[in-house]
Amino acid sequence: MRMAPPTSPRSSTRSPRTAPFAAFAPVALTPRARVFVLTGAGISAESGIRTFRDANGLWEQHRFEDVASPEGWNADAALVWRFYAERRAQAVACQPNPAHRELADLERTLGARLFLCTQNVDDLHEKAGHGRVVHMHGELMKSRCESCSRAPFDDVEPYAAVPRCECGARIRPHIVWFGEEPFAMDRIQQALDACDVFVTIGSSGAVYPAAGFVRAVRARVSGDGKPATTLYVGPEEPDNAAMFDECRLGLAGDAVPGLFTT
Ligand code: NAD
Repeated sequence: MRMAPPTSPRSSTRSPRTAPFAAFAPVALTPRARVFVLTGAGISAESGIRTFRDANGLWEQHRFEDVASPEGWNADAALVWRFYAERRAQAVACQPNPAHRELADLERTLGARLFLCTQNVDDLHEKAGHGRVVHMHGELMKSRCESCSRAPFDDVEPYAAVPRCECGARIRPHIVWFGEEPFAMDRIQQALDACDVFVTIGSSGAVYPAAGFVRAVRARVSGDGKPATTLYVGPEEPDNAAMFDECRLGLAGDAVPGLFTT
């Protein structure tokens, strides 16, 4: 499924239990529990990277069609590179917050039983020490040739002009733009099929296919033969709130530390 722009209306087939995060007990993880965590722009907000939602659907004053779509790239590649150069310069200066650090700690405890999938293109999970992050929408600090088979490569250069590959084609940011296929969807589907606990942190629930993951988890039972637990953490209910068992309201930096006990 290709990445769709944020347009979906609120769905409301059932009511999740919604309350300030302090009203909930920590999620007690059993020794074999598999946890799927999906993070969105909200987890990086307290580190100084603005979300789409806070900017009324703009991304740092730009329409996403202009800077995050194949059409925008073909219309004005220099603008697209100026935009990602600014995002790189901004992200280099940002540091992980307690939510990123808590998930890195959880990985040290759970190992491969934690599957961390992020919609974010920043590298704050890695900076916090997380070893196996799945970046379904790509990575800001990587580039790739739009034509030849050269592998994506680490690249923090804030280009002022559109760079070229040795083959002559344009180098593009290693980002999944709207209308393109997210990365690692097979691995993501396997992890969705296997998880006992599914948690989304800081995502509006408006960008698909990520917004549909919770529905896929609810449609099956967990490895224990029980329904998987589905939680949302963020300051407000997301558009897909009706799919979650609980919405724990709060900022990620406050609500994620202490979210789990093992
Ligand atoms: P979104 O901007 O649509 O929604 C952000 C969500 O975060 C909102 O629901 C908001 O309530 C919540 N939020 C705000 N502050 C928070 C906090 N302190 N703690 C927890 N939650 C908080 O973001 P999205 O759903 O991730 O979708 C946006 C798309 O834009 C993604 O595809 C992503 O790739 C891209 N994007 C990435 C970054 C990044 O890499 N940091 C930043 C902006 C946009």
